[in-house]
Amino acid sequence: MRSYKATMVDPIRLLPREDREAALRDAGFNVFNLDSADVFVDLLTDSGTGTMSNAQWAAMFRGDEAYAGSESFHELEAAVRDVMGFEHVVPAHQGRGAENVLYGSLVSEGDVVFNNAHFDTTRAHIAANGGDPVDCPVPEATDMDSDAPFKGNFDVETAREVVDDVGAENVPVVVLTITNNSMAGQPVSVANTREVAAFADEVDATFVIDACRFAENAHFVQRREPEFADASVAAIAREQLSYADACVMSGKKDGLVNVGGFVGLADRGDLYEQCRQRGILFEGFSTYGGMSGRDLAAFAVGLREAVDPPYVEERVAQVQALCEALDDRGVPVYQPAGGHAVYVNANEALPHIPRDQYPGQAFVCELYREGGVRAVELGRFAFPGTDRADLVRLAVPRRTYGPDHMEHVADTAAAVCERGEEVSGYEVVSEPSMPELRHFSAELRPLDEATPKSPPSQ
Ligand SMILES: *Cc1c(COP(=O)(O)O)cnc(C)c1O
Repeated sequence: MRSYKATMVDPIRLLPREDREAALRDAGFNVFNLDSADVFVDLLTDSGTGTMSNAQWAAMFRGDEAYAGSESFHELEAAVRDVMGFEHVVPAHQGRGAENVLYGSLVSEGDVVFNNAHFDTTRAHIAANGGDPVDCPVPEATDMDSDAPFKGNFDVETAREVVDDVGAENVPVVVLTITNNSMAGQPVSVANTREVAAFADEVDATFVIDACRFAENAHFVQRREPEFADASVAAIAREQLSYADACVMSGKKDGLVNVGGFVGLADRGDLYEQCRQRGILFEGFSTYGGMSGRDLAAFAVGLREAVDPPYVEERVAQVQALCEALDDRGVPVYQPAGGHAVYVNANEALPHIPRDQYPGQAFVCELYREGGVRAVELGRFAFPGTDRADLVRLAVPRRTYGPDHMEHVADTAAAVCERGEEVSGYEVVSEPSMPELRHFSAELRPLDEATPKSPPSQ
């Protein structure tokens, strides 16, 4: 049950079917181009789309807008020390700003960077700095039905084999993403974190944790890793992060704010200084980094709320409930559910659509047509040139939607599956120059341009 009540509301409405059809066409069949007013239940992302608490709003009124030495920055720094255990903070406007600051300092031409799975912006930042991003997921990560507890783990053996080829001197950084966003939001165990830390040490690389969802990950560790059954989420989070030299954080996830990010560093060495200078260049002076004082203040409170047991339990339980509702209705979902999202397997839902015709994107378009639900494709369309499954992510914003909305989403997805055979594939008609960022702005066209055979308006 939710451990809070709503005291502010934001009206939403379901447009008539013809209007949804027109909006989708105008958007070039890419839901990133839709206006939010045209969306009923928006599960595009959990990033910066959640609801702040009254304590966060109250903190915003006290935001210190000083350019240098802002009190609000010190509040954030104190929260990062207490909650995450990193002594030093280089603030950034959001996670990718922090990625630019950190990976721009660490990665150069010809380097290899390992990650359990690179998130899209992470991959793009490594590539933009001339590095080669190599994913090292465990084999069970791609088994949709395996009930292994930590399918987000990093496969150290895969990384070792690559090191044998490229040489340890070309590996400046090893990244562990918790939870593993590109692998269905699956958690990473503390045991695996220790193993990856030892591997990074072995190859003399900086060990970075992408900590965007560190609190959700800690909740899974508490439930699934016997060593931590009696530990608090707060204690687990601190221990897991303690193995890293640095972290990149997007406040838009487990910072429970609408914008913000930082690089956290364990000590004040050369890397800190490099990040600080790069931060000043790209993000802003080192006591605001692209955030207003108000943003910093709300972020400081949000980080502490993220490890509050009733909050994080209900958060993960809501996602799990959506996964079960979809499964009950026969929608093929990745099992078990991740911490922030449920992933539908479009290859199974729309088996007649060949993989090069983007069945994942076809499913995304149908969810919008059918019920005004916005989701995102994280398969061949988002990650061109890979052979990952065509998953569709339904990301749940924090503290925002209720069980009735989740029911609507499950019913909508079930309706799409039911008339799946009528759904056609797509082709890309325009795309940006950087393939890593294709899904944000490419436009598509349905291969069957006949009027969609949909049931009457609901
Ligand atoms: C969201 C995210 C980022 C980037 O953060 P933004 O705030 O969106 O720029 C990086 N890594 C992971 C795992 C993320 O989920």
